[in-house]
Amino acid sequence: MIVIMNTGARPEEVEAVKQEITNLGLRPFENPGVERKVIAVLGEVGMDKAELANHFNAMPGVDRAELISNPWKLASRTYHPEDSIVMIGEAKFGGGYSSVAAGPCSVESLPQMRLSADIVKAAGARALRGGAFKPRTSPYAFQGMGEEGLKILAEVRAETGMPVVTEVMSETEVELVDRYADCLQIGARNVQNYALLKAVGQTRTPVMLKRGFGTKIKDFVMSAEYLMAGGNTQVIMVERGIQTFEDSCRNTTDINAIPVLKSLTHLPIVLDPSHATGKSAYVPAIARAGLAAGCDGLLIEVHPDPAHAASDGAQSLNGPAFQTLMDQLRRIADAVDRKL
Ligand code: PEP
Ligand code: MN
Repeated sequence: MIVIMNTGARPEEVEAVKQEITNLGLRPFENPGVERKVIAVLGEVGMDKAELANHFNAMPGVDRAELISNPWKLASRTYHPEDSIVMIGEAKFGGGYSSVAAGPCSVESLPQMRLSADIVKAAGARALRGGAFKPRTSPYAFQGMGEEGLKILAEVRAETGMPVVTEVMSETEVELVDRYADCLQIGARNVQNYALLKAVGQTRTPVMLKRGFGTKIKDFVMSAEYLMAGGNTQVIMVERGIQTFEDSCRNTTDINAIPVLKSLTHLPIVLDPSHATGKSAYVPAIARAGLAAGCDGLLIEVHPDPAHAASDGAQSLNGPAFQTLMDQLRRIADAVDRKL
């Protein structure tokens, strides 16, 4: 349920509503940054919901109480009708802005990250990606450079001014990764790792939350709700392909998810065409399709030398291919009235 206050509601009236929510054993959550006060009522409502709505409707300063039929509240379009804009450094995602975050799958060395940052920055990317903690299917595969990789990211950020996106895999590493990252990535395999979601929800660092390859859209939104319920409202949702019967690509891009998610939530929706296809030859087509479909940004793997990448080389674009793609994306952004 949400309680929508009158435009001119007095602060004491807002306080009284919040106090009443607390008295009922529930939790008030105020939507920051909007003119009209909207207070979400969080928790398991014990009494009849229509009766509870009437109760709030009778309070001074209240315009109306509305039931939210979906189990997600803070992420809901009903609660927050306008698009949210999430910033990673100066890069804007949402509200008509689409930004590109690009870089290698893994941080491999300082020269490799410097070169990657130069390539993606020159082409127009606004954030640099690179994993220092890598979730790998095989325990024998490269697991990432760990903290040393985070230090490299911080160094390259200082040199180039690009904000960095990097993955955190475990709740025990949130504090460490958060010291270096401008955006915490939660990977597909961890989308329903509730201990991790709760820990990242305690930070105030922007998050890129990736959909799992077998995660229903509704469960994906509930994972965003976990982060927000912890107080971290800076959530970007990333579609990165799902597993279907089709095996010609690594995954199947769920383009539908872009408009579906936008109808359910106000949060920015980003597409990752690299993991969605698994093949660099297909990445540009799917990136273009995602932007045309209205995504609020793209997360793209780019490597200065894909053939020798420590991970995901087959799906990584090289510098010239990324440059060509960015030029095309700018024209698509114009055609669909988005700022890239
Ligand atoms: C990645 O971004 O390199 C990654 C591991 O992505 P995902 O979690 O989507 O597989
Ligand atoms: Mn990868």
